[in-house]
Amino acid sequence: MIGNPQITDERFENLLNNLQAEEEQIKYLKSLNDYEPANGLNNMPNDLQIEEKNNIPETLEDIIINQRITKKYEIHPSSREQFKISKGYIEFRDVCKSYKMGENKIIAADNMSFEIEKNEFCVIVGPSGAGKTTLLNMLGGMDSCDSGVISLDGINISAMSERQLTDYRRYDVGFVFQFYNLIQNLTALENVELAVEICKEPLNPKEMLNAVGLSNRMNNFPAQLSGGEQQRVAIARALAKNPKILLCDEPTGALDYSTGKHILKLLKESCQKTGKTVIVITHNHAISLMADRVMHIKNGHIENIERNLNPLSIEEIEW
Ligand code: ADP
Repeated sequence: MIGNPQITDERFENLLNNLQAEEEQIKYLKSLNDYEPANGLNNMPNDLQIEEKNNIPETLEDIIINQRITKKYEIHPSSREQFKISKGYIEFRDVCKSYKMGENKIIAADNMSFEIEKNEFCVIVGPSGAGKTTLLNMLGGMDSCDSGVISLDGINISAMSERQLTDYRRYDVGFVFQFYNLIQNLTALENVELAVEICKEPLNPKEMLNAVGLSNRMNNFPAQLSGGEQQRVAIARALAKNPKILLCDEPTGALDYSTGKHILKLLKESCQKTGKTVIVITHNHAISLMADRVMHIKNGHIENIERNLNPLSIEEIEW
């Protein structure tokens, strides 16, 4: 181990091998650290401040990680180039994942390989237990794969340290969970405000709540909102983070027909207008008609991928 105990010698070696102009990089990254030791340090959450103070950079990776915290994920473009490993915006290459349940091994991802392009609205369908949520959790940095490579925008997520994954989840990923996951003792507005506090370029929380049709419910607590309204807060929260990718697990499952359509329209628009890439798990096959790409998953396999060259608008879809 060198420096950060989370980094193995092998990983450190790989990192150095990947960086051709290593000295220039260190100089560059150090100069940024010197330039701005405390941009927002006082505003940072306590856990990050403690990490920052206790963590005097010793390795190149430490410097990069610290830089990503103080400079909010800014990596020198040439360094980013050298970390690039794939062509597709999102790529899974031979990804395997299994869970142990006592004596049994459950295979949730069995050699999954696929690509998703930037700005796509992608729908994942498949029976219960097929591995859809596992796929989303691995892409969102909430779960790790056993083998294979997962990348976003050319960056290898599957090789990230825990701390890098924390940054990744904070800045790059917006999650909409099946069961909302709102903080119960915060109002709708406070739930959204909390999420954007540490984001790079967040959108206005009030505007996002307006966009999901909750302008008059901002000061309500989750318990005072219906399931559908809570889901809309969760969607506003994810959109307000302004992430690269939006990962949605059954986002309209709890919504009535017209609210569901409204939310899907909003998600689709976030691809077209703000360049996001949206992935939606659904049991509603009608939604596939508005997707750019439909992935059918069964028993941990990608059974089929369809490219939809003429996706319908949400107004044209009925279910
Ligand atoms: P889907 O979202 O398609 O319903 P999941 O990805 O949730 O499927 O699950 C795929 C398989 O992996 C299922 O058999 C499920 O029981 C199993 N699984 C998922 N997460 C875990 C876990 N944390 N521990 C054990 N088994 C799990």
